[in-house]
This record gives sequence, C-alpha cells and structure tokens, in this order.
Amino acid sequence: MTVLLLQLPIPPFGPETVRGNVPLAAAYLKLYAQRVESIAAEIEILPSSLADGLGDAAMLREITDRRPDVLGLSCYLWNVERSLYLAEQVKRRMPQVRVVLGGPEITHDNAWVLEHPAVDYAVIGEGEQTFAELLRFLAERSGDATSSPVIAGLWDGRRRSIPPSRRQLAHLNDVGRVYLEGILDPAPYNSLFLETIRGCVFKCGFCFYPKSFDRLAYMDDDLAAANLALARRSGVSEVFLLDPTLNQRRDFTDFLKLLAAGNAHHSFTYSAELRAEGIRTEHARLMAEAGFAEVELGLQSIDRTAQALMHRTVNLPAFERGVRALLDAGIRVRVDLIVGLPGDTADTVRRGLDYLANSGLFTEIQVFRLAVLPGTDFRRRYRELGLEFQPHPPYHVLRTPTLSSDEIGDLMREAESLFDTEFDPLPEVPERSWGTPASPGGTPVAGTQWVIDLDASPRRPSPEEVGLAHILRFVSRDFSRHGAAMRSWVENVLDHNPHTTLWIVVELGEGVDLPRERDLEALLEACYRRPLSYLDWYFSLQPKPGRMGAKRITVSAPHSPVERVEGLRRRLPGIDFVVPETSPVQ
Ligand code: SF4
Repeated sequence: MTVLLLQLPIPPFGPETVRGNVPLAAAYLKLYAQRVESIAAEIEILPSSLADGLGDAAMLREITDRRPDVLGLSCYLWNVERSLYLAEQVKRRMPQVRVVLGGPEITHDNAWVLEHPAVDYAVIGEGEQTFAELLRFLAERSGDATSSPVIAGLWDGRRRSIPPSRRQLAHLNDVGRVYLEGILDPAPYNSLFLETIRGCVFKCGFCFYPKSFDRLAYMDDDLAAANLALARRSGVSEVFLLDPTLNQRRDFTDFLKLLAAGNAHHSFTYSAELRAEGIRTEHARLMAEAGFAEVELGLQSIDRTAQALMHRTVNLPAFERGVRALLDAGIRVRVDLIVGLPGDTADTVRRGLDYLANSGLFTEIQVFRLAVLPGTDFRRRYRELGLEFQPHPPYHVLRTPTLSSDEIGDLMREAESLFDTEFDPLPEVPERSWGTPASPGGTPVAGTQWVIDLDASPRRPSPEEVGLAHILRFVSRDFSRHGAAMRSWVENVLDHNPHTTLWIVVELGEGVDLPRERDLEALLEACYRRPLSYLDWYFSLQPKPGRMGAKRITVSAPHSPVERVEGLRRRLPGIDFVVPETSPVQ
C-alpha cells in the first residue's frame, strides 16, 4: 500500500517566498504508523520543493503520477479549500484513491469539510493512532471496498456518523523522534519545530487547542535535549517551540535551563508563545541566556467583559511586569490584540490599542480580526454570543452585538495608523526581469512571471507551468486591441489553477494609452467569476486598491494623464494604478 501525505502552504503573492510550511504532522503520522505500529505501508511526504511551489495543475500531475492508494492532506485554514479541490480532481482521475483529511479544520462542527464528496475519511483530533489504525484496516482489507471501519476519532464519509472520541497519546516520546530518525530534515526550513508539550491548561474561547487535547502530554527531557543537539548539528538558525503557552509547565525554570544547556554557544535562536503574567526577572534572564530572540504574547483585550466571555482574564500589572522583564533582557516581544471579540466595543478596543501605544510594552504589535474557528468554544456558542462570521476560511467575524462591520474595519485601519504599520503588506511590483517563465516541462517555482508582448502572439504556458503564485505582465503599444486576449490569458491560468494567486500587471510604456475601462472591468470579472479561494475571502474584508483578493490587477501608468488615471481609479477601486511618486495622483 502506498500513501502520499501532503501539506499545502499559505499561498504567497508573486515574489514572496513560502516560509514555515513544515510537514511536521505528516512526519508524525509516518513515524507512528511505520516505526511504532509497524504497518507495512510505503509512506511518502511530498517534499517542500514541490509542495511549496507547484500550482494546482502541476500538483495534480505530481499526485497522480505517484499513483497512491491513500492520499492524506493536512488541513488548515489556509489550505483546506485547495486541498478539497485537489482531492476532488484526483478522485475524478483515480476514483480508487482513498482521501484522508486531518488537521485543525477537521472538527465535528465543520460539516462543509466532513461532508465534501471527495472525503473518504477524516481524522478528528489527534491523528497518529487513528491514522495508523486506518492504514492497518485498509492494508488488511485491500480490495474489499464495501467494509467500513469503526475507529475512534475517524469520520467515515460513507457512514457519516460522529465517531467515538480518541484517547490522547500518553506522551510525545514516540512522535518526538521525527528529526532524529531522519523522517524530517530541518535544514531546508532553516528551522526545527519542537513540540515538547501537547495540550493547554487554559481554555480561551477563540482557540482550537483546548478542545482537541484534554490533558498535557510531555516529551522527556532527554529527548528534547537530543533534538536540540540535532538542531546544532544541522546548522539551523532557529528552534521554534510549538508548546502552547511555554510557561504553563510546572518545571518552567528547569526547562529553561535545559534549553540554555542545549544552546550554550547560541548556535540558534529560540522563539515561542507564552503568557507574560508570571514571567519574572529570573525567567527572562534565563531565556536570554538560552538564546530566545523573540516571544509572542496574547493580550487580546483589556476589557473585563470581553475577557470573561473568552475565558481569559489578564492581570495587567503582572502582564506589565512580565513584558518589562522580557524587554529588559533584550528579548523582542510581539503582542497580539484581537478586534471583534464578543463583549468588546469600539471604545474598549480603542482603549486596548491606546494602552499598548502609551505603555510601549511591545517590540511589535499584531492586530487580528477575530476568526470564529471550527472546534472552538466561540463557534459552539456563536448564536448565544451573536457572532456573525464568514462561512468559509478564514471565518473572520463580520459583526458582533457590540461592533458593526464598519467599526471592525475602522478599528483595523486605526490600529495600522496608530502603530504606523501595515498588517498583511503585499510586495511591490517586481521588475520585469524578475523570475523567468518555467521551461516547458520544467518544474515551476512558487513565483512565476510571464512577460507577454501582446503585439507578438507569444506562446502560452501549459497549465502545469503555472506556479503557486503567478504574474502575468502585459506589454503592448496599443492595449485597446487586446482586451479579449488579456482576458483569455487570465482564463487560461485560472481554469486549471483556480487557487493560484494571480497578479496581472498592465505595463504602459511612454506614449502608450491607458487600456479601455471595459477591458479592465472584464479582467476583474474574469478574476472573480469562479468560487473564491482562501486569500479572496481573507482580503475581501480589507479592500485596498488592487487587493480585492487572491487576484491583483496593477496598471503601471507612469506617463499617463493624471486626470484620466484618477477617474479610472475612482470608478475601478479594485484595480491599483501605479504612477510616479511625484505625481499629484499619488
Ligand atoms: S490561546 Fe494559548 S493559552 Fe489560550 S487556550 Fe489556546 S494555546 Fe492555550
């Protein structure tokens, strides 16, 4: 039996590179099934050189070329729609493939995923034992398509009944060997992801974590130390501690000493999430000694009502002491706030923003719009709390009883202005010379750019030459002749790669007239006439010129009359017009 495991990345834009898409969950599954449960299955994890760069059509070819018996997809907010699209396409070509989903998107209350016709099985909660039992079942019953397993934690797409819950692993010592046993190599990621605890003692209403693990499971100290030694040998620059709330462990001080001993020469830096309350000077000193460069802290809201509703109270004097200790020790502190929490009003959110701005208790601020995630307490209680949210990932809140949609948008913009930053900045238009079209039959990289001289009838790329992020850069001496051609190029990309991030750059040389308004409208329509993808939903609530979603249209018009550009910009707010810095239309 052959098994292919795949974890798709957060889609990048144009020249952005994919970072942090480490298939750790897939590595756990492979190690547990093969080495702990001795299941005779060939399990391949699609390497990041392919997973992080291929567009939909090329990915489909990679999957079908391998002819797996089982296709396993790790589903997160940012990839679940694309995963389901690919699963559907694979099943059209190879109906015998068993599609198995896992990850945080697989919860009892996420019916649109569980009931998708391409899903044969879905693993709810911790996956290692459930997946291994499923593989054993499939290996023993190969050829018998009628039998259906009853396995704790496993949703069966045919039976469609809620499975019995799965008991959590007692410890992390089996799965914690994925790097040591060579299943995952940290070097390509320049980072080793280390999970020394699963579970969280806190129960924040917006968080998926407490629902999936009911107790804390630990990795032994010796094994943690062996992983750190491997990080040193591998030459990675960072060890990312995945433990939810690093300082929830009772032996926090001793654990920091272990981390310090494992990084005596500061071969790498540590980063982690923790709660500031309880961090004392001694902890911060030990963390600096260990090599912590940055920590992330959730403040979320300073309002008592909002804190009570999310089951997360904050002791502000203790928070302040903890952050000061960390900053004094030279550790960067990233503080998170959430806009759109039940109970918060525009006034209380502003007070939270002002509190941070005035106190200076941060190195960097992140302000998020609340996501009402499946599997969370907020999702379970959304009616009672009066939360309205997007029906698809990222499930962003649209309004609450105390915050209107406009207020949430205004608060996000106010936060950007107050902290003089831009959340989710997008790259600038790359040079025309950036990137090269993939050679025919070659492997595209994440960012591909095709420079298309519309006056010269250039060759069209095959669908498989389109990378995960694709730029179509049009040039012409007369765009008014090429409206239909531009649209057809866009259709050609999106028909076969609906989840690619597509950036259309219309580049006007000197003396070249602006494209016709109706041709630009037709381009926008071509971009958004298919079902929306993750970034479409993501950006739809924060429209800025040229970023309505996963497709951007930029008209580079350095020589065009200012009044005409301004008029087009007013009438076509979904399109970004780039003009010289000195121009009054800026
Ligand atoms: S947000 Fe952090 S502290 Fe709260 S439940 Fe989730 S992991 Fe635990």
